[in-house]
Formats: sequence, structure tokens, C-alpha cells
Amino acid sequence: MQGLLESIIENNKDLVKEGKVASYIPLLGQGNPDHLGIAVTNLDGREYLAGDWEVKYTMQSISKVISLMLAIMDKGSRNVFSKVGMEPTGDGFNSIVNLEVKKLSKPYNPMINAGAIVISSLIEGATVEERIKRIVTFAQKITDNKSIRVNEEVYQSEQETGDRNRALAYFMKSNNILTGSVEESLEVYFKQCSIEVNSRDISRIGAMLANDGILPWTGERIISRETARIVKTIMVTCGMYDESGEFAVHIGIPAKSGVGGGIMAAVPRRMGIGVFGPSLDEKGNSIAGIKMLQELSKELDLSIF
Ligand code: GLN
Repeated sequence: MQGLLESIIENNKDLVKEGKVASYIPLLGQGNPDHLGIAVTNLDGREYLAGDWEVKYTMQSISKVISLMLAIMDKGSRNVFSKVGMEPTGDGFNSIVNLEVKKLSKPYNPMINAGAIVISSLIEGATVEERIKRIVTFAQKITDNKSIRVNEEVYQSEQETGDRNRALAYFMKSNNILTGSVEESLEVYFKQCSIEVNSRDISRIGAMLANDGILPWTGERIISRETARIVKTIMVTCGMYDESGEFAVHIGIPAKSGVGGGIMAAVPRRMGIGVFGPSLDEKGNSIAGIKMLQELSKELDLSIF
């Protein structure tokens, strides 16, 4: 496995030149496009790490999986999915059009920004700080990494420039899709997106999901088997936004990307995978990350289909 990961890094080194580092959140624009990392966590707890696996980046939309799990734990899946749907959109992650044109009573799914902002509004806690702390603590527990934190600079940058997300949120508030304080829900959302991780951390999240909700290294149950099943299914259909169909055909693994350049993947009953390459395609997914997953999937026959 170690040799395979190293050759995957080697084979994809040139791909970092394709695509662009996200810059609509100005601080992300400072990311180094040459970084390329991969990590695998097996279900016996063994880990394999190659390339720039140690480089930290912000979770961005990978955090939508964390908040979805926590919201289901807090409110129950029936309640959560009465407020957010389970259908893929075929549109970009920050698209606003369906909310008005289709007169939706809830956003399509929890992996697009509109859905994730509603999910953030469901996280329990007496104050915004407490809600954010619960998300960070949950991420620390799943990754067995107590040093995980919000990157305050990225948060500031996103909060200063996050007008599309503000527009989505206020539009949903005007239609009673989103209730409570818009600014508070956005603060939770922006901060969860700014949680900083490395590729090993995200491969551990994938491993817990692959292991039906149990941490492979301690045997501790984090979420119910049912929640793990729901989350992985939504990752398959919606995790790569309007690239989910192509990703399912070529790679066939439940996965979630983020504009920080990371992709978290969970191969049911086999392994968790974390890949990182900051250069993105036009859908906001890591180009090298997708290619590395494709190579790994082919080599180890990982497609679930
Ligand atoms: N924080 C980012 C945003 O809201 C997350 C998007 C993403 O990773 N696709 O725009």
C-alpha cells in the first residue's frame, strides 16, 4: 500500500498545473498549488501516508458531512430531512436559482451551500460559540486529533467575502426555510468550513464512515450504523456536486470535496481516504485529488458498483 500511494503521488505530480486554486475566498488564493497529499486509514487502524499529507488546509465543504452527522444526532434524521432534501441538483454548490424558480420548501440536499446553511442552523448549543465548539470537538473526536482548530484568518476572509452565502441564507429566511438568526447560522457555517485539517485527519473521518460509524482504532461507536448509511449515500449522490455522476462512474466511492482542495472518501468496509491538491476544476473539486482517487480505485478495485 505504501508503495502504491507513493507511486500515485509521483504519477499525478504534473496535474497540479491544471485548474486553479480557489480565490473567491481571498485567503484560499494563497494556497500552494504544488501540494499533493494522500492518506489511507484501513479498518484495522493501520495508516499509510504519502506526499504532502501533513500540510494543513481548511475543510470547507467536507465540514458539511460533520455538521450533517451532528444535526442528525441532535434532531433525528426525520426532523433534519423535513428541512433539507436528499436530491442531487446538477447545479453548482452555491447556486441560488432553484430556491426561487422551483419555489422549494427546502434546499435540495445538505451538501450544497443552501442545504448546509440550514443544517448549521440545526446544530444545538446555547450560544454560537457553543455550537461551533461542539462541531470542532466532534471533528477532534472522529479524527483522534485534539489539535484541530478553526483557522481564524480563513474564517475572517470568508466572512468578509461570503455575500453569496449571505444571499442564500437571507433568501431562505424570507421564505421561512431558514428560521432564527441568519448571521448566527452563517457564523457557524463559515467557522465549520474554516476548520483546519490534514489528509490523515480526513482519511480518519472516511474510515469511521467506512466502518459503519465505529472508530477503527478504538472500537468506539460515534454515529449509528443508520446515520453512517444515510451520510455515505448522500455523499455518493451529492458529495461532488454537479460532478457526482461522473465521479460515481469513474471512481464509485462515497466522497466529499471542499474548495480547500481536500476530498474525503469512505470505501464501505474497506478504508477511509484523504487526498489533497489545491488546484480545482470549474466545479470546485480538486483535479489531482480526483485523479489520485481514480487511480487508487482502479488499482484496488474499490468501486462499490
Ligand atoms: N466555504 C465554502 C463556501 O461556502 C465552501 C464551498 C466548498 O467547499 N465547495 O463557498
